[in-house]
Amino acid sequence: MDKLAIVVPCYNEEEVLKIASEALRGVLDDLIKKEKIADDSFILFVNDGSKDRTWALIEEEHRAHPVQVCGVNLAGNVGHQFALTAGLLTAKDMSDVTVSIDADLQDDVAVIEEMIDKFHAGNDIVYGVRKERKTDTFFKRTTAQGFYKLMDMMGVKTVYNHADFRLMSKRAVEQFSQYKETNLFLRGMMPLIGYQTDCVYYDRKERVAGESKYPLKKMLALAFNGISSFSVKPITMILGVGMFIIFCCVLAAVYALFSYFTGHVVPGWTSTILSIWFLGGLQLLAIGLVGQYIGKIYIEVKQRPRYNIEKVLTDKDE
Ligand code: UDP
Ligand code: MG
Repeated sequence: MDKLAIVVPCYNEEEVLKIASEALRGVLDDLIKKEKIADDSFILFVNDGSKDRTWALIEEEHRAHPVQVCGVNLAGNVGHQFALTAGLLTAKDMSDVTVSIDADLQDDVAVIEEMIDKFHAGNDIVYGVRKERKTDTFFKRTTAQGFYKLMDMMGVKTVYNHADFRLMSKRAVEQFSQYKETNLFLRGMMPLIGYQTDCVYYDRKERVAGESKYPLKKMLALAFNGISSFSVKPITMILGVGMFIIFCCVLAAVYALFSYFTGHVVPGWTSTILSIWFLGGLQLLAIGLVGQYIGKIYIEVKQRPRYNIEKVLTDKDE
């Protein structure tokens, strides 16, 4: 029987912690009763340097339910993506399969069972995907959708409407741990792992209590980080603009020379206008070109694994 770890990053979640713990323990009990997971499966709360009583509550829950509730206390606030990574990498050595979910229970805990079924059907990653965003405010909905569109335009592969509610098998987390980069954008990294994946669909609810810990500022930072960690397209765009301006320079040259010879110009205008276009284009071209090398260096320093072997067939198989 596979041992499940539910990983929950928590930042200032004192209002929701007990509710989340109870709901998730309910899920564990149910799945254990249905013999879908091992009976020592557990929840792993990761306290991301909360300023409130979150850690004290996690300790309390652990005392009351020593097997089912475990905790990791981070020394300071490192942000959702790092907190989640800390949880996944800790859980990896203690379990066979992990499910990550937010503490606020916006994601439907009922589909965890479906995730486990899909895991047993041979999937290594199962994405939780939101059906619609009725409960989100108009602002949150449009900004979030713009975010996915932008990522797509910039060439970052992500699963549409999937946040960080997902199941990962032990070997998927192990492969993920090979990605040593510090600028984490988990949603973009998962598709790189390349194992068989599937999705489960659910309606996203409202936060059970407390306030969002993801204000616009953090969302914009996440979007920028996502793009700049996965794509050197912005640099390539600069190169493109440079080429375009040089092309415009040729047109401007034709126009300026034509005006010069037909005598409709003030002295000095032709050379001025040509140098402006030419130098502007040349500068952008040069920046773009240097950028291409920096982009390559950036990709190299990440030292991402170049491939991930799914299976090897040899005559030594039993
Ligand atoms: N979170 C975290 N560290 C942070 C910010 C948020 O661990 O610095 C956690 C938070 O406790 C929650 C999850 O990340 O479990 C998602 O945050 P939230 O629900 O506030 O984001 P929203 O759903 O509003 O986008
Ligand atoms: Mg939330």
